[in-house]
Amino acid sequence: MRLFPLFADLKGRRVLVVGGGNVAERKVRSLLASGAQVTVGSPAITPELQQLHEHGTINHLALPFQPEWLEDIWLLIAATDNRDTNRHIAALAHEKRLFINVVDDPVLSTFQVPSIVDRSPMMIAISSAGHAPVLARRVRERIETLFDHSLGTLVALAARHRPAIRLALPDMRRRREFYDWLLDGPVAAALRKQQPQAAEQALVDELQHEHGAAKGKVVLVGAGPGDPGLLTLNALRALNEADVILYDRLVSEEIRELARRDATQICVGKIPGEDHNATQGRIHQLMREHANAGQYVVRLKGGDAFVFGRGGEELEYLRSHDIAYEVVPGITAAMACAAYAGIPLTHRDHAQSLRLTTAQFSRDTTEEDWASLAQANQTLAFYMGVSQLDWLPGQLMAHGRSPDTPFALIENGTRSDQRVLHGKLEELTVQAGRHGFKSPSLLLIGEVTALAPKLQWFGASLSAQSPIGTSCGTTTPR
Ligand code: SAH
Repeated sequence: MRLFPLFADLKGRRVLVVGGGNVAERKVRSLLASGAQVTVGSPAITPELQQLHEHGTINHLALPFQPEWLEDIWLLIAATDNRDTNRHIAALAHEKRLFINVVDDPVLSTFQVPSIVDRSPMMIAISSAGHAPVLARRVRERIETLFDHSLGTLVALAARHRPAIRLALPDMRRRREFYDWLLDGPVAAALRKQQPQAAEQALVDELQHEHGAAKGKVVLVGAGPGDPGLLTLNALRALNEADVILYDRLVSEEIRELARRDATQICVGKIPGEDHNATQGRIHQLMREHANAGQYVVRLKGGDAFVFGRGGEELEYLRSHDIAYEVVPGITAAMACAAYAGIPLTHRDHAQSLRLTTAQFSRDTTEEDWASLAQANQTLAFYMGVSQLDWLPGQLMAHGRSPDTPFALIENGTRSDQRVLHGKLEELTVQAGRHGFKSPSLLLIGEVTALAPKLQWFGASLSAQSPIGTSCGTTTPR
């Protein structure tokens, strides 16, 4: 161990900062946050430091460094921009056995200030002993994403109930289980939902039942369209905590690889020959079994769970069986495919509304429905459309949509093999067949899609003129 990690209690203790620039100011602010009594020694100081001085928050010695400043302090930071001065201060500090940090100079420093993830009162500090500060900052950013800000409230809550927890659970092992439950269970969940009273109640109830069997829950997570970069932080957190993951076929493997290593992953896609309702029944059953066994179940769906994802039915089922749940929204295919094809879904001049619709059930659609779908100046996003491409364009044209209306058909949107076909509505059926577009593909129809050839920045772009095959017309990012 190169450095001994230490959290110092500086409340009310005198700390000296030599230097009055921006770096010194940053150090002063974090020292003040810990309650230290700060003196700044420097002929000139920043306007913000000046203000702190005028408010009596810090002392200011408006002189070049003086050795007697080291007399009654606990700790000091040298933040001047003169290496000789810093070296001189460090030498005197060493003589007096005072801990000193010389900013950006691990050789002259006897203590270093770590990168922190602040979930006060929980504080996570990261140090590379000055060898790789950039790497330390990257690690800090990762940890930052792992714990949301409710962790601080959770720690404070646990601290308040600590004596009661000790009393109710004298056995160390049981107490450890209780703290696990606190981090993973309904108390943390309630705090994330900004329901502190519910959280406290859950904690108190649990203590009264003396930590009975853990209760499971289901988190409905939208995994987005495929690119793992489009997962939300909450989705990533849920994947990190899951015991069981029930995933749809549309969820990409790269995303599933981000899950906790020892989570059980179960594919709940349709089994060949099985109908949709039987599949759904099987999913309900699996959610219930695992949640009732006390497990953290992630129900992982492509895109967003509430957009053609049957998420509503799953919540109704969970509610009726009294199983706790949460929902993490995902980026739905229409938004993601449009973004990755360079198509704004609305546009001041071309489209004032957007309709997310499915091509699946449209054979039953009424005449009025068709007439409204065929109106100009709106963007239509058709999900599950590839098998309907032989008749859908004809229907829209028969109800008045112009044959010139531009479209974009996006296959494997946001994935490395994304292809975008664009053209006019009248040629959609032939061109989609010619290029062999397959599921999952999203069909966008409307004036805005004319922008695709101009604005596309990702993956392959095909038009009526393109030869068959995927290598043509690949756009290079600018
Ligand atoms: N809940 C999902 C939609 C499920 S329905 C969401 O919000 O995106 C499945 C349909 O979504 C597919 O048939 C296709 O039309 C569309 N889709 C999903 N992912 C896609 C992708 N990566 N590229 C293109 N279309 C996609």
